[in-house]
Amino acid sequence: MYYINGEWHESDQKEQITNPATLEVIDTISVCGAEETKVAIAAAKEAFKSWKKTTGDQRSAYLSKTVKLMKARVDELAQIITLENGKPLPDAKREVLGAISYLDWYAEEAKRIYGEVLPASHKDKSLMVIKQPVGVCGAITPWNFPLSMITRKLAPALAAGCTVVLKPAMETPLSAIKVFECFHEAGLPKGVVNLVIGPDAEGIGKELTSSTDVRKLTFTGSTFVGKKLVRDSADTMKKVSMELGGHAPYIVFEDADIDLAVEGVMLSKFKNSGQTCISTNRVYAHKSIAEEFAEKLAKRTAELKIGDGLEEGTDVGPLINKKSLDKMKEQVEDAVKNNAKVVTGGNVYDYEDGDGYFFEPTVILNATDDMVIASEETFGPIAPVFTFESEEEIVEKANNTLYGLAAYCYTKNLGRGLRMMKELEFGIIGINDPAPIVIQAPFGGIKESGMGKEGGKFGLEEYLEEKFVSIYEN
Ligand code: NAD
Repeated sequence: MYYINGEWHESDQKEQITNPATLEVIDTISVCGAEETKVAIAAAKEAFKSWKKTTGDQRSAYLSKTVKLMKARVDELAQIITLENGKPLPDAKREVLGAISYLDWYAEEAKRIYGEVLPASHKDKSLMVIKQPVGVCGAITPWNFPLSMITRKLAPALAAGCTVVLKPAMETPLSAIKVFECFHEAGLPKGVVNLVIGPDAEGIGKELTSSTDVRKLTFTGSTFVGKKLVRDSADTMKKVSMELGGHAPYIVFEDADIDLAVEGVMLSKFKNSGQTCISTNRVYAHKSIAEEFAEKLAKRTAELKIGDGLEEGTDVGPLINKKSLDKMKEQVEDAVKNNAKVVTGGNVYDYEDGDGYFFEPTVILNATDDMVIASEETFGPIAPVFTFESEEEIVEKANNTLYGLAAYCYTKNLGRGLRMMKELEFGIIGINDPAPIVIQAPFGGIKESGMGKEGGKFGLEEYLEEKFVSIYEN
């Protein structure tokens, strides 16, 4: 099923959607491709003519109605996320509530799009800046947060007065279909939101990037694909927002609260089976506390319950696909070859003799810079522990990555915390905080982790153009 110009469509081309915990088919859906994307862009272009003229209050009302409809379906939405993505049901529920909160926040922000009056440099002139929606937006989202990544883009876009063509990940299109059902029920005018689902990501992507009618592309996914989309968008000089990969350092100083730091890794590394772009990739423990820290971390990690996300008490679900599972095996093998010591986990997990993509939550000691895991994004449940001896050394090591999304630092020393805040070259810094993500804050990276921000007032600006108006009062 895909959704264009206010209507659901079926096609002869079908794709099966499977549960990564069991490999059972959850659903078989109609899909589409480049041709339908062209039609969706045309629908969004037509709808933009009137949507851009709506008031903030009107757009707010549509978003609020969608919030109400989604709130009535929280359990159903959470169930779908767990089935197609694999994450434990309570985490899926948290994602649904988070996804709703973006719509809720931007329903309010839609009413607060202000311009500015500038001081004139001529006595007979008036100068002002007005803000207007960018136009038709293409949005491409990943599978790791199949619902919240959609609303984090669509809520500000719609609030700003843009219309949208969304392409979700082929692994998790069912969450997207559900949220579009809510948009439909909320009565969003035809063509304001369009959903294209299909396995030809490149073909759909090409339509979005090459179209002169698409004025903005917003993407969350890998750096590799992000770079290609930026290159392809250059010919039509689109505005782009890129939320890409990361390689977060997690620094534990000798003066840190060790237990707190251990619990932080549990959250930052193992939630969503490590498949989060701000996930910890490199744990750095100060040499003087490394042994105690690693021992506690290994103990807590070994306690995690692996299983189907629908099963009560599951802490860690499956990975999304075989490619991810293979990557875990390769990273561990490479680390062991380079003298790392696996203290817990390290293997594929055989859950109930099934075919699911499970990997044991893993802690590796004696990690060194020459290991693949030191530079390649893991996107899975492996925590390599490195050691360091000085502040100067750790700043250098932490910043030694092409990525710049998130970094974490544990210390009780305020001055040190502030120095880290300034020195770490990342877009998001958590100081004694493993979850530095709130709706009002700008979420996004620097360097090869992307450009542009999502969340809060910052996220809204990405969908607005500033227009300068100079008036001569003759
Ligand atoms: P991916 O880049 O392969 O896929 C992401 C999306 O892009 C999917 O919808 C996919 O179908 C689509 N896509 C793939 N190739 C395309 C193409 N040529 N043209 C247009 N669309 C295309 O990413 P993945 O491997 O599935 O997801 C994991 C990656 O995403 C990780 O690197 C992770 O760090 C990153 N990610 C980043 C954030 C963030 O906010 N920074 C959030 C989630 C995931």
